[in-house]
Amino acid sequence: MSMETENVVARLKSSGLFRTKGLIGGKWIDAYDGKTIEVYNPANGEVIASVACMGERETKDAISSAHDAFNHWSKLTAAERSTRLRRWYNLLIEHKEELGQLITLEQGKPLTDSIFEVVCGASYIEFFAEEAKRVYGDILPSPMPDRRMFVLKQPVGVVGAITPWNFPLAMVTRKVAPALACGCTAVLKPSELTPLIALAAAELALQSGIPPGVLNVVMGDAPKIGNSILESPQVRKITFTGSTAVGKKLMAGAADTVKKVSLELGGNAPFIIFDDADLEAALKASLATKFFNTGQACICTNRLLVQEGIYEKFINAFSNVVQSLKVGNGFSEGVDQGPLINEAAVQKVESLVQDAISKGAKVVVGGKRHNLGFTFYEPTIISDVKNEMLIARHEIFGPVTPVIRFKTEEEAIQIANDTEYGLAAYFFTNNIQRSWRVCEALEYGMVGVNVGLFGSEGAPFGGFKQSGLGRECSKYGLDEYLEVRTKHTMFFYFRKKNHTYKLFHLHH
Ligand code: NAP
Repeated sequence: MSMETENVVARLKSSGLFRTKGLIGGKWIDAYDGKTIEVYNPANGEVIASVACMGERETKDAISSAHDAFNHWSKLTAAERSTRLRRWYNLLIEHKEELGQLITLEQGKPLTDSIFEVVCGASYIEFFAEEAKRVYGDILPSPMPDRRMFVLKQPVGVVGAITPWNFPLAMVTRKVAPALACGCTAVLKPSELTPLIALAAAELALQSGIPPGVLNVVMGDAPKIGNSILESPQVRKITFTGSTAVGKKLMAGAADTVKKVSLELGGNAPFIIFDDADLEAALKASLATKFFNTGQACICTNRLLVQEGIYEKFINAFSNVVQSLKVGNGFSEGVDQGPLINEAAVQKVESLVQDAISKGAKVVVGGKRHNLGFTFYEPTIISDVKNEMLIARHEIFGPVTPVIRFKTEEEAIQIANDTEYGLAAYFFTNNIQRSWRVCEALEYGMVGVNVGLFGSEGAPFGGFKQSGLGRECSKYGLDEYLEVRTKHTMFFYFRKKNHTYKLFHLHH
């Protein structure tokens, strides 16, 4: 282990945050057969830790503890749950530096971005700790005079949460916080590539007084864990962030036990720049929206659509800034772009770039592996891309910007919508009528109009089409963890009789 890694690990160990076992019923547990998997630093291939590699038996036990804990946790008042969640938020913020280091170690992103992820991930807990107290019901007008109808919102039960590696903390808290706030309990399966930050967060949940069994963590054999969650009648909800391919399998698997399903899946975000746009603003926003997290975010620009009148000018200006991006180990000072997550991710990027070049696209900047080696790839711009090319149809998940030229607004909308995805879209224009027209014509769950990267715990997050089902964050995100119970009841009222009040049924 390098000195850098040793220092980060030593610091985490001293706060009890370096956990390598699964968490079941409040106890840190090895895989029952003793199997482990290694976690690597994507920047240099170094092994950071060996963690428990769990499967079916551990998942079943985790589900049972979550089921037992539900009985108690769901009956606490919203305020009691809120206090514990708030403590969890405070602890994450208190430890944001070392948690940020842990994210950089196992995921690779620059340290400032990792610390930002901790703050952002914590903000979901803070938000839902507050929202826990605002799960309101309804009183409805009855068709019968002697009846009343009430709507009660109640926790759905045990939740299975499966999360990816690209935002290994924020994707966890975005699911677990609303689930716990509503009174649900959870079995979390983080990605085997980045389990350490999820385990550290679970340790802090325990320290904050969230009772044993309310949050359980199992990792290892993804299909076995996933199937055990899907098959269990005790799990009433599955929430997943990851690829569309796995999301479809989970959706099909949830049918047997008719679970509630939320899916945050892949994207193919268009970023459209019209001739009348503020070019300076569009340039800054497109840079951030593409290269954030080395392009490994579901809302990263996947296709840059530039109108013909400004096409050359924009590409020149964009090339200058992209060339100046600093690539390196996330721990190095001033780094803008870290490594990709693993070799398979680099190979995917390489094959998409090669396919585009073979079909007539041109490399303007980058276009190959970075001389730092390992999983580093050069920040890249490819021009003359057509929407039929693989690079414009698949989620690139890397630091490559394919640029497509368009002539008219109608053509831009047609190209933007010509995909099975519908997560995030962006466009820049100074024409107010166009800003409304285009926004409503884009088949996307989230649209940035003259803004780039967005995201807030208070705004619904999610996609149309094959980008997913349901919404996370905001008041809409809470409903995903609630059942609606309708109570029909007889109506009684008091009538004064002989100076005493008595209960009467309306017909008496
Ligand atoms: P992935 O391969 O689908 O993995 C996501 C999670 O699913 C991981 O925990 C993975 O476990 C697990 N998994 C894989 N196969 C499984 C199976 N058969 N049953 C149950 N679980 C299974 O996706 P990824 O590469 O980690 O993440 C990148 C994807 O996530 C991209 O498509 C991105 O767009 C999407 N994403 C979407 C959003 C959004 O909000 N829409 C946000 C972030 C990311 P292992 O890693 O342990 O194999």
